Amino acid sequence: MTSFREFSQACKLIEETPGSLDMTSLVADLLSRVTPEELPVITHFVMGEVFPAWSNEEIGVGAGILYAALARSSGLSVSQIEDLVKETGDIGKTAARALDRKSKGQATFSSFLTEEHELSILEVFQRFQAISKASGKGSQAARIKNLQYLFNSASSEEVGYIARLALEDLRIGVGEGIVRDAIGAAFDVPPEIVERGFMLTNDLGLVASTARQGGTEAVSALGLQLFRPIRMMLAQVIPTLEAALLDIGEAVIEWKFDGARVQIHKEGDKVKLYSRRLEDISNSLPDIVASVRKYVHADSAILDSEAVAIDENGRPRAFQDILKRFRRKYDVHSTAKEIPLTLNIFDIMYLNGESLIDEPLVKRRELLASCVENSDSVIQVDRQVITADPEVIDTVYSEALKAGHEGIMIKNPQSPYSPGKRGRNWLKKKPLMETLDLAVVGAEWGYGRRTSFMGSYALACHDPETGRFLPVGKVATGFSDEQLAELTELFSDHIIMESGTKIELRPEIIFEIAFEEIQKSSNYESGYALRFPRLVNVRDDKSLEDVDTIGRLEEMYRMQRERN
Ligand code: AMP
Repeated sequence: MTSFREFSQACKLIEETPGSLDMTSLVADLLSRVTPEELPVITHFVMGEVFPAWSNEEIGVGAGILYAALARSSGLSVSQIEDLVKETGDIGKTAARALDRKSKGQATFSSFLTEEHELSILEVFQRFQAISKASGKGSQAARIKNLQYLFNSASSEEVGYIARLALEDLRIGVGEGIVRDAIGAAFDVPPEIVERGFMLTNDLGLVASTARQGGTEAVSALGLQLFRPIRMMLAQVIPTLEAALLDIGEAVIEWKFDGARVQIHKEGDKVKLYSRRLEDISNSLPDIVASVRKYVHADSAILDSEAVAIDENGRPRAFQDILKRFRRKYDVHSTAKEIPLTLNIFDIMYLNGESLIDEPLVKRRELLASCVENSDSVIQVDRQVITADPEVIDTVYSEALKAGHEGIMIKNPQSPYSPGKRGRNWLKKKPLMETLDLAVVGAEWGYGRRTSFMGSYALACHDPETGRFLPVGKVATGFSDEQLAELTELFSDHIIMESGTKIELRPEIIFEIAFEEIQKSSNYESGYALRFPRLVNVRDDKSLEDVDTIGRLEEMYRMQRERN
């Protein structure tokens, strides 16, 4: 049996370790130390998860419940706890401080308890399970009581990690990549086999247990399972149509519907729907469940689709409307009437007991068409064109945009279904997305042909609260040589400091930047980074007041996550 104290000590060590290789070996060490029963639990805990993403269990603890439990355990008021949160900026430190004050001030239940009773990892997990199961009247009180028990039983080094875990925000920098490699290292399984097992089962806890029990062979044998969603295959932005066609040759062209992703699992009359984040959304979408029962003729199947909310003119409604449907817990039937959804099915991964993910797309499509009965404005297999002719592709693209959709998907007809992969087999072509106006706060001298030019520019958003500019990344794409020469001259008046090839610039010039997505990142002070940023325009018509704020980035990030 492993104590929660040992886990906390491991977390502290990991938190203080800068390199991901060292972190991986610390995690591997932790995974190989615990008992078989503890292994799946600890695998999730170390990533700041309590339950696997696909399961229906949710801990459901928000800041309110946590503050109330901390207040009760420490004897402080909730507003004192809130002040501590503001002061420390971290719930873990808040918990440690609040409970530390208490132990100094008075002899308490906990001080008696800690003498003889040491919390085990499984005990913490069981309390979290009890919290997740609490429902109905009195559930709030039950959640608080269970947390209070944990806080009262924990030592000061443990309470911080309990508080952070309860919010599923452990902040020790361990993500899926590190855990995947750690499982590989701990149980001697190649990381790509661990990765594949993970993409198919979506549960690193299960992969870890399988690796421990049966090594590489057992992990390789992990497969699709009905009612356990698999990671969605993802799309890359198309470089250019010419390059894509050169790569793929004849390509499958489909509309890129403006809706939300739904993975469908069906066995007999049992139907479950999962969102892109693999949450079970079946209860919110009873109309879709009914259509799948009626129009999908298969004993068992796993399908991939896009649900679209259509207005009275047959055009897609705002994305927020679909979200309303996905999030709805009550009055689901009346919301379904208000915002009807159409299901466009574009792939099939499993049919009548057989996995199809290694079959080529064309074969999967044949099988898909054979088991889905199209029914107008309720459910259909999306139309596709197979062509290498750029003119035909352009026509489909403009039809899709005219119908109010996002653009087109260009798929490799021979490609397997690659769970969780953003590869070249699925490309998306859509008009440029929203751009950000960012201040240029630094640059770097180029190399090779571009040594006399500033070749890469550091970008920052604005923090209205402090008035500071917070870095969000660099842009080095989207410039012609001529433009680089002009910009180098323009910026030479704005240099504050130079060291080596690095230049600090006074923020004065604004770049309009397009990008593929916003990511969380600890590399930049804003806490965000842009994926594939490229210069759209130098906005000399704009001034520093026009620079996008950190608030807008946060908002765009949130929207993007919801959309995903
Ligand atoms: P993006 O969200 O921009 O990365 O684009 C990929 C998303 O487009 C997928 O996750 C689906 O939700 C959506 N999509 C719409 N139509 C299709 C389609 N025909 N094939 C695949 N994905 C589609």
